[in-house]
Amino acid sequence: AGRHRVAIVGGGSAGISVAARLRRAGVTDITLVEPSDTHWYQPLWTLVGGGQASLRGTRRPEASVVPDGVRWIRRHALAVDPDARTVTLSGGEELTYEHLVMAPGLQLDWDAVPGLAEAVGHDRVTSNYAPEYAPRTWDLIKGMRSGTAVFTHPATPLKCGGAPQKIAYLAADHWRRQKVLDRIRIILVIPDPVLFKVPEWARTLEQVAARYGIEVRLRSEMTAVDGDRREVVVADHASGTKETVRYDLLHAVPPQSAPDWVKSSPLADPASPLGFVAADKHTLRHPQYGNVFALGDVANLPTSKTGAAVRKQAPVVAANVLDVMNGRQPARRYDGYTSCPLVTARDRMLLAEFDYDLKPSPTFPLVDTFKERRDMWVFKRYVLPPVYWHGMLTGRL
Ligand code: FAD
Repeated sequence: AGRHRVAIVGGGSAGISVAARLRRAGVTDITLVEPSDTHWYQPLWTLVGGGQASLRGTRRPEASVVPDGVRWIRRHALAVDPDARTVTLSGGEELTYEHLVMAPGLQLDWDAVPGLAEAVGHDRVTSNYAPEYAPRTWDLIKGMRSGTAVFTHPATPLKCGGAPQKIAYLAADHWRRQKVLDRIRIILVIPDPVLFKVPEWARTLEQVAARYGIEVRLRSEMTAVDGDRREVVVADHASGTKETVRYDLLHAVPPQSAPDWVKSSPLADPASPLGFVAADKHTLRHPQYGNVFALGDVANLPTSKTGAAVRKQAPVVAANVLDVMNGRQPARRYDGYTSCPLVTARDRMLLAEFDYDLKPSPTFPLVDTFKERRDMWVFKRYVLPPVYWHGMLTGRL
């Protein structure tokens, strides 16, 4: 069969967006490696956990999003050899390529916190980061009338940096409306010295947390869970102390890293302790292998990992792959745009959009997105999902 012109590893947000754009540009012989028969719209999982969306609405058959004319191989990539230009697939086959797009997303390291893998999904421990547990978050929130609720944020890079705190606000607002908020102690564990790294939005979030009476533990991290005893260990890196907290609800977000097979591949960035793929931060091209590009959660880029970032990265990768195919230097540049829809209440949201310089870069320049807004909540719940399925995944937007 010879070499395939383009191989794309991962048929999530990034892989499908790039495939659709390359097809629109007339590229033939595109092969997509994706093991799952389901495509997920993960941004709605926060609202699933908050009881505001159904899990069913976040899922479509993978076959329905693979663009026409793209060959889909339903296998896992297990290894990549960028010198030989091959990808080894589960089942033992080898795929050869001329150009490679790496988009397999990231890996959830449930095992990295002792006790977490055993506890999650059982008793009072949940996580919106996995579709099998997100509906359970809402069951636990709904069932709680008093006690202690702990929400954690890992100390690694993560997808959607705002998601660990958004669910705390959705829960708190529900308890406020049920008039039980004053009977519930809410602890939010955050590894950074601030609630959010762009000061304009951090200030508003501090007020939001204070409004609900949330105890914010900055420079802190969950280091162990005991699901049987309903205890979580919170390490405070500022004071060097550890506290064991008894919980009645634990929403845990696991540490995250590049998939293990990516970490051990020659494409991993030696500067990334978690093995994310090296990519020029503007062209998204691998610095050593000029026929390899990376985008989405797997790429080692100094910006927040979100689907919104993928929306701006996909056109850059598609255009630059075409440039390289045609013997030109890649000309399109990504500026680090990312966006975090910070849901702060059951009907309010802050839309934080910024670039590599943490400079706000609003899509709606006339709208004051430093304030909590109802129209932005409607935008996230009702406008963004169809934009994703019909615009982003088809390469139109
Ligand atoms: P993914 O979409 O995760 O796709 C990776 C794909 O690779 C998957 O289909 C997977 O099956 C496949 N794959 C895995 N291993 C292999 C392998 N070995 N070989 C081949 N394929 C493989 N983003 C926002 O913009 N806004 C939000 O509000 C938001 N909220 C979020 C809330 C939660 C709870 C979560 C979990 C995420 C949220 N995100 C949000 C983040 C967003 O979903 C991701 O950043 C985005 O999906 C990244 O796209 P990706 O293609 O890199 O990875």
